[in-house]
Amino acid sequence: MTNLDSLVFDNAYARLHPAFYEVVDPTPLPEPYLVAFNPDAAVLLDLDPARIDRDELTALLSGNLRLPGSEPIAEAYAGHQFGVWVPQLGDGRAILLGQVVNARGERWDLHLKGAGRTRFSRFGDGRSVLRSAIREYLAGEALAGLGIPTTRALGIAGSDLPVQREETETAATLLRLAPSHVRFGSFEFFAARGETERVRELFEHVIAQQSPDLVLASEPLPIRVVRFFAEVCERTARLMARWIAEGFAHGVMNTDNMSILGITLDYGPYGFLEGYDAGFICNHTDVEGRYAFGRQPAVALWNCARLGEALTALDPDVAANPGSEEALAPWQAALDSYWPAFNPEYARLMRGKLGLATEQEGDAGLLQELLGVLQADRLDYPTFFRRLSGLGSPGRPDEDRSERHRAWLERYAARLAGEPGHATGRAERMQRVNPKYVLRNWVAQEAIERAQRKDFSLIEELRRLFSDPFGEHPGMERFAEPPSGPARDIVVSCSS
Ligand code: AMP
Ligand code: MG
Repeated sequence: MTNLDSLVFDNAYARLHPAFYEVVDPTPLPEPYLVAFNPDAAVLLDLDPARIDRDELTALLSGNLRLPGSEPIAEAYAGHQFGVWVPQLGDGRAILLGQVVNARGERWDLHLKGAGRTRFSRFGDGRSVLRSAIREYLAGEALAGLGIPTTRALGIAGSDLPVQREETETAATLLRLAPSHVRFGSFEFFAARGETERVRELFEHVIAQQSPDLVLASEPLPIRVVRFFAEVCERTARLMARWIAEGFAHGVMNTDNMSILGITLDYGPYGFLEGYDAGFICNHTDVEGRYAFGRQPAVALWNCARLGEALTALDPDVAANPGSEEALAPWQAALDSYWPAFNPEYARLMRGKLGLATEQEGDAGLLQELLGVLQADRLDYPTFFRRLSGLGSPGRPDEDRSERHRAWLERYAARLAGEPGHATGRAERMQRVNPKYVLRNWVAQEAIERAQRKDFSLIEELRRLFSDPFGEHPGMERFAEPPSGPARDIVVSCSS
């Protein structure tokens, strides 16, 4: 008995002009097996996890089952990749099976990654490897557990089908959920071709689907679009504040990987900060460090500017007066809303991590000094804050602390003395925002290596762990540890 075919589809994207997509079916994975199933994601779709038939689920996840109401398509988009304009990208290995609407009226794209070649595959094979499917699956849950907006995944199917990357690996598919997969690059695709009507169509689609309250239909188009653009800039800024506060590095912040909804999208060679380094580069193919950890907020703003350029296609003033500062002024003002959205959000998150209930002069300096200590001493970022929450030894045994570290702790203690309330309440508050468990590369790697030997149990254990990263989880403590030995040297590339 299953309820997968009770899903209610409303495929709005497939009703857009055919220029938006290719109609294409998944290429089924041969002899698939179930690698992972996420009951929390099933609930988002109103599915009862206990009633899902595992064989049917495996067939759905592997592209072998077509649900009634599904209308598979691959979306077209473009993008700036490492700063370089690429006019044609698109879903080269992912297929939008359709859009499901749940009882709360929420819309969820069912997006099958690794589902075979499409018109947009270029030289790629249309597949994903098991390693990258597991990394994406766990990352979505880990970020969701931290309260960071992100895509989720319903599950993973695997197959022994060989896939050639740097080494020969095996294929897997991941069924990803997001309210929308529209990217900055979806707008850029049509704007660059001068297809203004398509830009308008996409704008109206996104508004109707996601933010019907955001802009009044009665207002002139340019005003509505500028307001939308400001909203995207602000959402993106708040997402960046969360990434930076939690030590997350995405690794490939090309405009085709930037969600129009400000959610984390397209996990590749991401990484969580361990020994703190603002210059941390998680993607070893990013030789220049364009997407280094600390550069992410600035790069996201650069990406917003590219989106803005695409959207100005809908502003006749800009079209009539190209390059005119006056015509661009409302757009510049929208873009300028980025830092005023980022800064207070980041400050708020970091005050929370430091356990500061009040805002005081000197807090910014206290934080800057701390980041200097973390950087100089390469302290493990999550461990530092978790121990600070316990008011235990933050980072390392006292005798190992640097002069600067000890000085900072004194300054911090003095600052806490000016806080109202009890220290015990503070410790609890801090533990609710300073995770004990973040998805360290070595932990993901252990789950991957076991899965490659057909033992999928650790994936499920980690899913549960990361759904509550603030809990203590007795027996799981080793997953909170920084890497040691060869695990320090795990490198992650784009080749997924
Ligand atoms: P990504 O770096 O994963 O965001 O992918 C960038 C672009 O390359 C997107 O258009 C992908 O669909 C496409 N792509 C990546 N890997 C493959 C693959 N194995 N086969 C086909 N297209 C791919
Ligand atoms: Mg991508």
